[in-house]
Amino acid sequence: MSSRTAIVTGGASGIGAAIASRLAADGNMVAVFDLDGEAAATMAAELERAGGKSVGLAVDVTDRAAIDAGIDEVRSRLSRPTILVTSAGLSLESNFLDVTAEMWNKSLAVNLTGTFDCCQAVLPDMIEERWGRIVTISSSSVHSGSAWLASYVAAKSGVVGLTKSLALEFARHGITVNTVPPGFIDTPMLQQAVERGFFDVESQTERTPVGRIGRPEDIASACAYLVSEEAGYITGQIIGVNGGRNT
Ligand code: NAP
Repeated sequence: MSSRTAIVTGGASGIGAAIASRLAADGNMVAVFDLDGEAAATMAAELERAGGKSVGLAVDVTDRAAIDAGIDEVRSRLSRPTILVTSAGLSLESNFLDVTAEMWNKSLAVNLTGTFDCCQAVLPDMIEERWGRIVTISSSSVHSGSAWLASYVAAKSGVVGLTKSLALEFARHGITVNTVPPGFIDTPMLQQAVERGFFDVESQTERTPVGRIGRPEDIASACAYLVSEEAGYITGQIIGVNGGRNT
């Protein structure tokens, strides 16, 4: 149990929502940042009903000014944030030859530059506190590659490189930086891919060694450990949570 202030981006849905709930249940104050401000506020209200202290803010991670303003609000309404989990993300499937500059740039802006900006914006507080935990949410596709998802896999691979570099640069400040690449987790993002016919749950379950689809809580429990006091010697690591799909 800890009582720090955590920011979870993309915290109103799927994996981010499960992480926000778990970190709050573990005693942390949680700021939910999401594109959808109403959903972020609803999530924060849910965390408060369960006995936590939370704020939910509309923060588009592609907008640095919005991130900085959101962090100012977190400082004044909760306290200095020393935990960051970057779950905001989007995947745009396309035949590679049809990927437009707009799609490519959007994928990089949300998945990679959004992660860069959130990390850069929150690190000064962590340095000041001489303690910090960052967990980036990448993707198991960085291990396997994925046809039709070149811009997504490229961006998420960048997130892994960013994570490793930050881990080395900030280790002496008491800050750890790790990445969790999820694989095959039952969330709105995955369900939308199923609806578009890009993904088939039955055949994917078949090729998953543990024999089931992952739950957002599976990712949240790995994050809960990585942001804990006792995980201070783990940094720069890729902690796959994928039912054995990638080893
Ligand atoms: P999800 O349910 O769609 O959650 C993603 C959240 O990020 C949504 O609330 C979304 O808001 C928000 N978001 C999107 N763009 C944003 C932006 N520019 N600024 C702020 N928030 C933004 O999907 P999920 O499956 O939980 O995904 C969470 C993370 O896990 C993502 O980074 C994803 O790439 C990664 N991941 C998931 C899987 C899986 O199997 N589910 C596998 C590998 C990696 P809106 O709904 O309003 O757009």
